[in-house]
Amino acid sequence: MFDKILVANRGEIALRVIRAAREMGIKTVAVHSTADADAMHVRMADEAVCIGPPPSPQSYLSIPAIIAACEITGAQAIHPGYGFLSENANFVQIVEDHGLTFIGPSSEHIRQMGDKITAKDTAKALGIPVVPGSDGGVPDLETAKKVAADMGYPVIIKATAGGGGRGMKVAASEKDIETAFRTARTEAKAAFGNDEVYMEKYLQKPRHIEIQVFGDGKGGGVHLGERDCSLQRRHQKVFEEAPGPSITAEERAHIGGICANAIARMGYSGAGTIEFLYEDGEFYFIEMNTRLQVEHPVTEGIFGVDLVREQIRVAEGMPMSFTQEDLVVNGHAIEIRINAERLPNFAPCPGRISQYHVPGGLGVRMDSALYDGYTIPPYYDSLIGKLIVHGRDRTEALSRLERALGELIVDGVDTTVPLFHALLQEPDILAGNYNIHWLERWLDANM
Ligand code: ADP
Repeated sequence: MFDKILVANRGEIALRVIRAAREMGIKTVAVHSTADADAMHVRMADEAVCIGPPPSPQSYLSIPAIIAACEITGAQAIHPGYGFLSENANFVQIVEDHGLTFIGPSSEHIRQMGDKITAKDTAKALGIPVVPGSDGGVPDLETAKKVAADMGYPVIIKATAGGGGRGMKVAASEKDIETAFRTARTEAKAAFGNDEVYMEKYLQKPRHIEIQVFGDGKGGGVHLGERDCSLQRRHQKVFEEAPGPSITAEERAHIGGICANAIARMGYSGAGTIEFLYEDGEFYFIEMNTRLQVEHPVTEGIFGVDLVREQIRVAEGMPMSFTQEDLVVNGHAIEIRINAERLPNFAPCPGRISQYHVPGGLGVRMDSALYDGYTIPPYYDSLIGKLIVHGRDRTEALSRLERALGELIVDGVDTTVPLFHALLQEPDILAGNYNIHWLERWLDANM
């Protein structure tokens, strides 16, 4: 059993992990940059260690500083949260080489899924349906043209090392392919230091449906249904819900069963998400994330389980606390991501919070590291809070979201809250009738 764990992250997710650990009687160590000396995760943890200056590469991404913080404090395990080092196989290897435990999957599984071509090959071999596309990397323009001609336009060119929606370009027809191919490669090189790209059929009106999975690392695996994360801006999710409004119980059991089986066969350990595009009743694998996701609370809402607690248990070598039969969908949950950004351009808007009031009441959860008088530093991502609501059904969850949003006060900086007030007036949102392009089109027309 762990006595003490280190949380290698900041913001709301660091709080999320500290809360789970505290309920389990485990002490926590926060790490922080000099810019975060006053941050809530530092205040809330049992101990805190400053690991460097504001830029992430010198603090939250500094492997030697994080390992040293473990050694100084006697922390036995590291929870990486999401982002930062959470999907860095090299980091996991170093953690293990120091006799510490990484709360997450093995470095092999992270590596396997971090390379999107290997991930697709692995998925295929495990019986998961994948998006039609190139067989592996596309080395040059000639090959790109040939693949596109065989597959039919439109196509999407994606970075093998991709993430965060970068290094992705669509070619609607042959006249676009050259520019799309070259830009995708240049972007991939700049963002990931690797310009390898691959190609997929570009689906026209899919929904983004992802399956939450969990493995015990010993051949046991379950699924916790789907989340619909189709409302996206620049391939970044802004509103997520579970269950998916378009997914039937039969579809959930079918695709969930395939994913749970794949996880079991891999011997996967901990939380993971298998992402699909869903169109005309078919699921197409796009990638797997080998970590806890930002939107995990909607799954926790409908199943009444604590995924972070479960991650810690499994990392300790304990069995999962639930079986597939225990996991029964209860009601509906929605999460909105509140960013410190100025509309209509979504320009980052760091600064001092002069007044902060959190909504409450039945079925309302606010995961945020804000407090009155806190100054949001300009160095990190602009997510400042997640408002999550749960209701007996989707209609109740939607009215609860609108009610809770009305109670929320975040003064001093601009936020994306007005976007959600507007979206909750849209008949398509109320009806659950949207795909991955809906929000971009709505923003073009309304902002
Ligand atoms: P990243 O890892 O950069 O987030 P993903 O492969 O997960 O990249 O894709 C992110 C988003 O891009 C998807 O949710 C979807 O909106 C869009 N997308 C990706 N692949 C396709 C495709 N083949 N057809 C249509 N849209 C796609």
